[in-house]
Amino acid sequence: MKQLQKKVKFILTAIFICLILVASNSIHRQIVTYKQVINQCLVAVNSDCSANAQELILPVVPSPSLNDQERFVAAIVQKLKVIPEPGTYEYILLRSYGAAFVNPADDVKLPPTVLLNSEEETKEFQTQLILQKVVGTNNCYLQKAAADALNKARLQYNIPLKSGYGASDCTRSFATNSRFWYKYANNKTLEKVKQGKETKILSVVAPPGASQHLWGLAIDLGVSNTKQRQILNQNGWFQTVVKDVPHWTYLGVSVEDLPKLGFKNQVVQGITYWLTPL
Ligand SMILES: [Zn+2]
Repeated sequence: MKQLQKKVKFILTAIFICLILVASNSIHRQIVTYKQVINQCLVAVNSDCSANAQELILPVVPSPSLNDQERFVAAIVQKLKVIPEPGTYEYILLRSYGAAFVNPADDVKLPPTVLLNSEEETKEFQTQLILQKVVGTNNCYLQKAAADALNKARLQYNIPLKSGYGASDCTRSFATNSRFWYKYANNKTLEKVKQGKETKILSVVAPPGASQHLWGLAIDLGVSNTKQRQILNQNGWFQTVVKDVPHWTYLGVSVEDLPKLGFKNQVVQGITYWLTPL
């Protein structure tokens, strides 16, 4: 009898070990496939990554076996169908302004590409947005999720807009984006940016069609202390454009999630910026 019990115990243990081996092998295979798809996205010229990515079961918690860049691409591929080729103008824009594409919420919309080419394209995108007013302003509108989070933060602490009340701090038109560009820069600067020879200007003003303000997910604020920054961070708002002090981006995730999504932090004059790993 005892021998039979021993045998049963042995068989059960063996089955259990086999199951563990099969499971871990399948997880390993999944990560390998996952890495392959992401790498394809990174090297392929304008390939549609989302078609392949959708076939994968995306890990709920980004895998530690992926590097920062792979984790970031894995996070944005659901919202940005085509990952631009490294070295291109769109890739440069994605590096500088693409943080918002990690937003996981279904009701947060992002444009099909990082660059909107005209007022028509901008309007076509903006008409799909559910906008909501920032409480206490005249006509400052953001995407509903972003406005809700900001309104919550502003209830907790006094956080003024950069201009005090205005619409230009919030969601902008293509024309306003262009007007700001030509106030600080010109066509020559734009050519240099496209060639990758000029990047500093991107902290001052976004090229026409490239501003996060077109997406309804950015606002310029008059933030002056750590407590304000802490409350904004707790509500999913972060500084993602290095040295653009008033500029805040709605990411809709917690500060603990940012490194998991591949973000790197850079502290400049006491301000923590969360930068894409591209
Ligand atoms: Zn801004």
